[in-house]
Amino acid sequence: MRNVHIIGAGLAGLAAALEFANAGYRVRLYEAGPQAGGRCRSYFDPVLGCLVDNGNHLLLSGNHAAMRFLDQVGGRAQLAGPGTPEFPFRDLKTNESWVVRPNLGRIPWWLFARGRKVPGASLAEFLPLLSMHRAPAGATVAEWLKPGELRRRLLDPLAIAALNTMPEVGSARLLGAVVHETLAQGGAACIPLWPHHGLSAAFIDLALARLKLQGARIFFASRIAAVTVEAGRVVSLAGPKGAIAIESGELVVMAATAPVAASLLPGLVVPDQYEAILNIHYRAEAPSGFVGLINSTAEWVFAKQGHVSVTISAGNRYVDEDPAQLATRVWPEVCAALEFGARPMPEWRVVKEKRATFAATPAQEARRPGADLGIANLALAGDYTATGLPATIEGAIRSGCTAANLLLLAARKFS
Ligand SMILES: Cc1cc2nc3c(=O)[nH]c(=O)nc-3n(C[C@H](O)[C@H](O)[C@H](O)COP(=O)(O)OP(=O)(O)OC[C@H]3O[C@@H](n4cnc5c(N)ncnc54)[C@H](O)[C@@H]3O)c2cc1C
Repeated sequence: MRNVHIIGAGLAGLAAALEFANAGYRVRLYEAGPQAGGRCRSYFDPVLGCLVDNGNHLLLSGNHAAMRFLDQVGGRAQLAGPGTPEFPFRDLKTNESWVVRPNLGRIPWWLFARGRKVPGASLAEFLPLLSMHRAPAGATVAEWLKPGELRRRLLDPLAIAALNTMPEVGSARLLGAVVHETLAQGGAACIPLWPHHGLSAAFIDLALARLKLQGARIFFASRIAAVTVEAGRVVSLAGPKGAIAIESGELVVMAATAPVAASLLPGLVVPDQYEAILNIHYRAEAPSGFVGLINSTAEWVFAKQGHVSVTISAGNRYVDEDPAQLATRVWPEVCAALEFGARPMPEWRVVKEKRATFAATPAQEARRPGADLGIANLALAGDYTATGLPATIEGAIRSGCTAANLLLLAARKFS
């Protein structure tokens, strides 16, 4: 049995690990932190007295790689959601509410149906969406889409959430890729899903359990500090307990974050601008669900187990704001969104993920490396690699599978 050494136990590393374990490899997974999951994990918050996610993560049923990953580890049952494609919105300035309900099939008759469409939207606004994945590499979302109600009430919120970047600078092609795989496929690919008991329970814990069953060894607090490449192949890694020799025939997946990968692999060009995501958690109970907000600081409000949680993407705009001030400003928006009335603000926690994702601009997109760096026994994985998608769960998982399949194919060729 051959060894594969995987650096980083985020979703990309875990997805690669599962591919190798299924192919009969002995997996060695090195994680710098005390727990797996990277930017997709849960933890107990003592102020709120409950388990919270590092950020609210929304999936769509059209995220095929994510669904396959969940099916492999048995995590799909952990997902909650309305079970149909529906996206409730509320405009806090005008107090209007509407629910976008794409029909299940590919012909988008929902665009004309009252009770399903975006109020005030026109077909002319929808059409550019269908070819957006073929937009010129330098085009931004704002340049590609027509201004109008569809954009204001659906596409801009979607763009900010999916790209974690403002439409004025976000890549049209990257948003187009998301639309092409979800909205353009019909409502069946747009059913919103989120983990009921937290990200770790759905994605991470079950993946680790499965890997262990398949004989994988997972080393926490094991930061890889150097990668030695000689004659075009990795020959050793520097682990916390000394050098880890990479014998002939052994493989390596670099699935650490972009700056770490660039520091360990000289000459590697990676995206170097980031956008923050802010989450504000409040200790409050509400029936499970979510709502998108317009004309507010809060963008999405999720009602979860034991807490209500707000997401603000493209968060560099607010990242320096005092947390107490932010929580106080956003609480009345939460009350309006969930029809709480004027309730006093409960315990709260602001979580600022400053480097949540790379900024999904055309210039940053051009800096994304492929999985193959020309090092015979190494492949690169991570949401920042050239997946054709923005930095998402789907992109991270796909990158791990791509890296694994690249190495497995090469290994088969030479064996
Ligand atoms: C707040 C927030 C909200 C988000 N919301 C959504 C959403 O709604 N939908 C969606 O699809 N996506 C969302 N994302 C994006 C998604 O979480 C990421 O794209 C995905 O988790 C990235 O996975 P990764 O494996 O590429 O990287 P990471 O999760 O960063 O994993 C890299 C791992 O490598 C480890 N590591 C680093 N250096 C070393 C080293 N030297 N040695 C060993 N290990 C090392 C790190 O500790 C980490 O565990 C969100 C992200 C954030 C932060």
